[in-house]
Amino acid sequence: MTALAVYACNPDTTHGRRYPEPPPSSRNEFQRDRDRIIHCTAFRRLEYKTQVFVNHEGDLFRTRLTHSLEVAQIGRTLARNLGLHEDLTEAISLAHDLGHTPFGHAGQDELNACMRELAPEAGGFEHNLQSLRVVDELEERYARFNGLNLCFETREGILKHCALRHARQLGDVGVRFIERTQPSLEAQIANLADEIAYNNHDVDDGLRSGLIDIEQLQSVEIFARHYVAVMRAHPKLERRRAVAETIRAMINSLVLDLTETTLGNIRKHQPSTVDDVRRLPLLAAFSSEMRAEADELKHFLLNNLYRHSRVMRMTIKARRIVRDLFQAYLDEPRLLSAEYRREDPVEQARAIADYIAGMTDRYAIREHRELFRMD
Ligand code: MG
Repeated sequence: MTALAVYACNPDTTHGRRYPEPPPSSRNEFQRDRDRIIHCTAFRRLEYKTQVFVNHEGDLFRTRLTHSLEVAQIGRTLARNLGLHEDLTEAISLAHDLGHTPFGHAGQDELNACMRELAPEAGGFEHNLQSLRVVDELEERYARFNGLNLCFETREGILKHCALRHARQLGDVGVRFIERTQPSLEAQIANLADEIAYNNHDVDDGLRSGLIDIEQLQSVEIFARHYVAVMRAHPKLERRRAVAETIRAMINSLVLDLTETTLGNIRKHQPSTVDDVRRLPLLAAFSSEMRAEADELKHFLLNNLYRHSRVMRMTIKARRIVRDLFQAYLDEPRLLSAEYRREDPVEQARAIADYIAGMTDRYAIREHRELFRMD
């Protein structure tokens, strides 16, 4: 590891864990967090959760697990470039989607809608807050406490955003949403590594699925520029290799731009501790030109891939499954095993949301079939 910058998070001066523990003997505190995340149940479930394409649609598409690995990979590169703590960046990246429901954003939006309509006092469902809930409460692996008991810095990075009314109940990690301050740079770059990863792998998966094509992508500046350069250098290149070369070049240009722009912001603001970083405006950023190009790509994917009729068919079916399950459990909690039954109605709704959010795509599909079909 390269030398840690003065503005990086340092495991020797962590703000600590919710339940004090003796320091690790052969790892640093952030390594220990990373290891706890990899060993937890919610992490293994990511393998069977949708990114864009439902898990059984094809073996080659990204899942939440491979997405999280790609985020961690890009995050580590950025951390090393910037003198930040690589293990912390990796831990945040690997944990950032632990609270994701089955069926990607469709599942999350529907679970939130169900909670708001059918259990308004329970406070809705936010996938980001749920990721924190997984590591703080839901994992059952330790004798002395619930959750994984991660360091403040890891938990701070996992909670990218949350509603103010929730922030007030969260203690230490909620404070920055009330005071409108920033998280560490490790958290800031993990967030942007997420964006770099999904924009690029969704182009790849979109092309592989045939829902979008290279001709359409010519209208997107960042794709067109790199694709033209690849084809100029290798005029007879076959399509599959041309796509891979183009996506690699796009990721590289985004990482380089983010590194340069962020270093420029660091030079300008001169943070000398991570607490300075928290008080300053966001330091991790793309240049305005690259920001515009990344937004154009995002917009293209929204209009042409995420809203493609074949993806929408999946989205609508997924929403129905989540709503049917939520409604059925709420009407008849005896359908649930004892560990998810509660006396209090608000706690019951939350336990149902936890249960559904923890499901993999195929588990949810199977459960829906069992509850709603007699054959
Ligand atoms: Mg993500």
